[in-house]
Amino acid sequence: MPKKIPMRQCVGCREMKPKKELIRVVRSPEGAVSLDFRGKLPGRGAYVCPDPACLAKARKSRGLERAFDAALPAQVWDDLEAQMKGGDQNG
Ligand SMILES: [Zn+2]
Repeated sequence: MPKKIPMRQCVGCREMKPKKELIRVVRSPEGAVSLDFRGKLPGRGAYVCPDPACLAKARKSRGLERAFDAALPAQVWDDLEAQMKGGDQNG
C-alpha cells in the first residue's frame, strides 16, 4: 500500500500540494516570522510554493496574515522574498 502523502494548501495559489514541495513559513512563539526550509522550527506554520508569484499572491490575499492571525511587517515580506529568490544563502 502506498503511503499517504501529506498535502498542504499553498496560501498563494490555494492549491493542495505535497508538503515536501512547499516551503513552510513559521511564526515562532516569540512572533518572528521566517522561512522554515527544514520544516522543523517550532511555532505556527503556513505553506507556500517555492515561487515568488505565490508569495505575491499570498501577500495580496493576506493569506499569511490569516494563517498566522497576525499582521506581517513589510520587512518580513521583504525577507521572505529575498530568501525565496536567493535560496538559503545568508548575507
Ligand atoms: Zn502556490
